[in-house]
Amino acid sequence: MTTSAEQRAVHLLVLTGAGISADSGVRTFRDHGGLWEGQRPEDVATPQAWRRDRRLVWRFYQQRRAQLGEVSPNPAHAALADLERQAKLAGGAFTLVTQNVDDLHERAGSQPIHMHGELAWLRCERCERRVRDLEHLSPDEFVPCPACGHDALRPDIVWFGEPLDPHVLGAAFEAADACDALICVGSSLEVEPAASIPFRSIRRGAVVIEINPAPTSLTEHADAGIRGNAAEVLPVLFREVWG
Ligand code: NAD
Ligand code: ZN
Repeated sequence: MTTSAEQRAVHLLVLTGAGISADSGVRTFRDHGGLWEGQRPEDVATPQAWRRDRRLVWRFYQQRRAQLGEVSPNPAHAALADLERQAKLAGGAFTLVTQNVDDLHERAGSQPIHMHGELAWLRCERCERRVRDLEHLSPDEFVPCPACGHDALRPDIVWFGEPLDPHVLGAAFEAADACDALICVGSSLEVEPAASIPFRSIRRGAVVIEINPAPTSLTEHADAGIRGNAAEVLPVLFREVWG
């Protein structure tokens, strides 16, 4: 028998990637011949691309931002929100870390840590003001900064070659080091530093489960792997294990 003081809350960490939103109709990066919605990521998701051709990059992100209004969370997003509620009711800790820039986790009821920024936010490069905006979605019109008047806000996205927000990275790594179990859903684990998260947790002795229709660098190190689509696997898994 243990007293409540001796019991330790179980900490569950879920790391998601583009694959969890694939079942909502949002395309992943690497499943379409290396193209993201017809573009090479380096042509639209780098600071160099923004400097070289701001109109192309803006048009691309305006399309991604507008798409948020056309897609909905799928049963995988909903299952994670349910899991968080259940874990917390049972006195445990739960952290959701996502590499995704869409808002489908929030719309399913979760509060994820967004490692790579969010489509719903814009940022001023001159004065660093951040603005939540899903209203100005014209592909051809820039949005000026409401604070300093700079002519064009940029997407508040961490582009390739840019550093992550240290607070965000710190929170994600802290959860990686503290968790007892990690579930990695729909990530190719090809983008650092997010890719190192499950390996940090493994080194700390956490149980790691991967859900992905394709193998990744994590597959052979995970305690369990379920090959399948997130929207099919997650609801069944949670009903069976925690339901
Ligand atoms: P990725 O595109 O590199 O890999 C996607 C992974 O999802 C692959 O391993 C694939 O096998 C798996 N997958 C495909 N369909 C799936 C399904 N139905 N269920 C479960 N898994 C499925 O994505 P990543 O690892 O997240 O990293 C790439 C970067 O792409 C991130 O920085 C992210 O910001 C960006 N991105 C985000 C979105 C989004 O926000 N929805 C979409 C595309 C790219
Ligand atoms: Zn500004």
